[in-house]
Formats: sequence, structure tokens, C-alpha cells
Amino acid sequence: MSYIVALTGGIGSGKSTVSNEFSRLGVPVIDADIIARQVVEPGRDALQQIAHHFGHSILLADGTLNRKKLRERIFSHSADKQWLNNLLHPLIQQETQRQFANITAPYLLWVVPLLIENNLCSRANRVLVVDVSRETQLNRIMARDGSSLQLAEQILSAQTSRTERLSYADDVLNNDREPEALIPQIALLHQKYLALANQFNK
Ligand code: ATP
Repeated sequence: MSYIVALTGGIGSGKSTVSNEFSRLGVPVIDADIIARQVVEPGRDALQQIAHHFGHSILLADGTLNRKKLRERIFSHSADKQWLNNLLHPLIQQETQRQFANITAPYLLWVVPLLIENNLCSRANRVLVVDVSRETQLNRIMARDGSSLQLAEQILSAQTSRTERLSYADDVLNNDREPEALIPQIALLHQKYLALANQFNK
């Protein structure tokens, strides 16, 4: 099994920007959000169970999951949220392990936006947090998503706080400057992770 570096950070902090750079260095990237979508793709048993539980109106015309509708439903029905979590968490975990086991590189980058919220730190060998100031984060969310300051602030306050997230970090990547400033920081981390993976795989 490869050494696992978990990458996390708040919304719009730069996780994709950072993981693209690791990928450019040849590091395999496994994305928790993609896995969460894969386990409910058409043809998967979980999608049938969801349609059975919530009714077929939870599907879009093309047979895929209507995520917006599902989100709205579980937001106001905690028992349904629990039901969905009980169904999906084991499937996501299984699929994640399957993808980890297929990797032969010394280490892999596991991108997990909700690493802290979902209590997953112990599944990784190392936690890397991409960190930005609140001001940068709000500006980038508004620029990217066209959201108002009020909405951006609301989204931030629903997430784990910056201080809490940083308390779990083994390494921190600051992303307040231009994207190019990340490159040397990531190159150093890459060398560090190769060395740690080498120890781990001995
Ligand atoms: P999410 O949690 O919403 O998936 P994320 O953490 O993956 O976001 P990115 O998508 O990488 O974050 O970055 C958020 C936005 O900020 C994007 O529009 C990206 O192009 C921009 N961005 C990222 N890093 C920088 C930077 N250093 N300078 C300027 N813009 C940046």
C-alpha cells in the first residue's frame, strides 16, 4: 500500500490548484468528491436503493441522481440524512480502499475536502492543509462562483474553522499569493513525501 498524504482545505482555498501541481509531478491523485459521485452512478446498486427510498423523482430524466433535490431533502430531514450516510459511507470507504490498493507509486495524494468534518485523519499517514486568509478565501469564492459576500460568509461559517483545520495539519501550504508561489513549496513537499514514503515502504 502506498503512503497516503491527505490534502484538505476550506472551500476555494486551492485544493484543485495544489493537486494539479502534484499530479504534474507524477503523483497519483485520488479525489474523495469523485468517489462520492462514482458510488451513485447509474447502474450502481446504491442509486437503485436511493430511488427506492426517496421515490423515482429523485432521479433526473437521464437516470442520474438529482443531487440538488437530494441535498435539499436531507437538509430538512435528519433521519433521511442518516439513512443516506449509512448507505454511502461504507461504499465510499470500500471504493477508496480499492483505488488506494491499485496505486503502485511511493505515495498518493488523497484530496478530501471534508477530512476533518468526517473524522478521516486517521486514514492518512500525513495531513496537508492548504491555507488562505479569510479575506483571500472570500474574494476567491465570490470571483469564482459569483456569490455575494453574505453567501460566501455563510458557506464559510458552516465549515470547520481555519484554526480547527490547522490543528490537524502535519504540513501547511499557504496559498495567499499568486499560484506560481505554490510551485517551489510543492516541490519541497514532494521531496519530503518521497523520503517519508521510502521509510514507510521499507
Ligand atoms: P473547492 O473547495 O470549492 O472545490 P478548491 O479548494 O479546490 O475549491 P480551487 O478550485 O483550486 O480551490 O481554487 C478556488 C479558486 O481560486 C479558483 O477559481 C482558482 O482558480 C483560484 N485560485 C486558486 N489559487 C489561486 C491563487 N494562488 N491566486 C489566484 N487565484 C487562485
